[in-house]
Amino acid sequence: MRILVTGAGGFIGHHLVKRLKSEGNWVIGADLKWPEFETTSADEFLIGDLRNPDFCLELTRKGSDEIYQLAADMGGAGYVFTGENDAAIMHNSALINLNMLEAARIHKSKKIFFSSSACVYPLYNQEDPENPVCYEDSAYPAQPDSEYGWEKLFSERLYKSYQRNYGIEVRIARLHNIFGPLGVWEGGREKAPAALCRKVALADNHSFIEIWGDGKQSRTFLYIDECIEGITKMMRSGYSEPINIGSEEMITIYDLAKMIIQISGKDLAIECIDGPQGVRGRKSDNTLIRETLSWQPQKPLLEGIELTYQWILKQTQLSREASKYKL
Ligand code: NAD
Repeated sequence: MRILVTGAGGFIGHHLVKRLKSEGNWVIGADLKWPEFETTSADEFLIGDLRNPDFCLELTRKGSDEIYQLAADMGGAGYVFTGENDAAIMHNSALINLNMLEAARIHKSKKIFFSSSACVYPLYNQEDPENPVCYEDSAYPAQPDSEYGWEKLFSERLYKSYQRNYGIEVRIARLHNIFGPLGVWEGGREKAPAALCRKVALADNHSFIEIWGDGKQSRTFLYIDECIEGITKMMRSGYSEPINIGSEEMITIYDLAKMIIQISGKDLAIECIDGPQGVRGRKSDNTLIRETLSWQPQKPLLEGIELTYQWILKQTQLSREASKYKL
């Protein structure tokens, strides 16, 4: 198949390109930037801005059997929940989705995947860290906790409208906290697992690390390989309503930090400080995806976190070496 992946320079996009190539497809990647930690395996890779409709038209001109639209202006709690990036997040991501869908319509693309998010779920169902409610139909009445979530909800509706009015097939996944190697681990856009792995990797033995909030906020985290399996399975299914792709193994941020400290073998204390944290509890509800796609994660969280910690530890060592070299 001829497949277009937008956002192919990012974390999930880069892993997805590798997977699609390993299946023997012809893959075209597009992004503002090249993948940061590895060379892309895409057959063609175009650098450009998806906020520009002409770039989207150029990408879709030759037609494609599948489009995976993963580009978004996004980051972890430090980027999404401070309020400082709200206008950019809504403006940039909405433009990307508007342009890509219109280009796909004009050039008669058959099928397009949209990466939505667990952030669409309403605040009022995620106030109890032990009992968050996140099944697909509970997204309405809507009350996402961030502008990032509102943009995703708007775009879900946009994709569904294009399917209804123009016949383009859409697939919509609500991804829940994806993590793993080759993801951003510093700079302000990293998410909790990567940020905690970095803090632990950089901490001196017998010192401490800081976590944001009281640490009792709970989440589920899905390892990247499992996410890619879920996305490709979903794309090839006949199901076109939004569906959760996540793990059901819930953990508090405090316990996640403890898990990473244990993996590191260091003796570190945990200090809770003020910081952006999002909802109190969030957990993927996989009832629908189990029933429709027979998919569920295979790896326990610990295994994925071990792999991620080792990769981030190596990145911190490489960056220390590089800064010595610069001096
Ligand atoms: P990422 O930030 O690593 O990748 C997004 C990519 O989009 C980046 O490489 C970025 O350069 C590119 N991009 C942004 N604006 C662009 C523009 N104007 N033109 C061209 N490229 C542009 O993020 P990710 O973790 O790989 O996430 C991929 C998708 O999945 C996003 O839509 C995100 O909202 C969604 N998602 C991710 C998670 C997660 O836990 N990682 C959870 C829920 C949803």
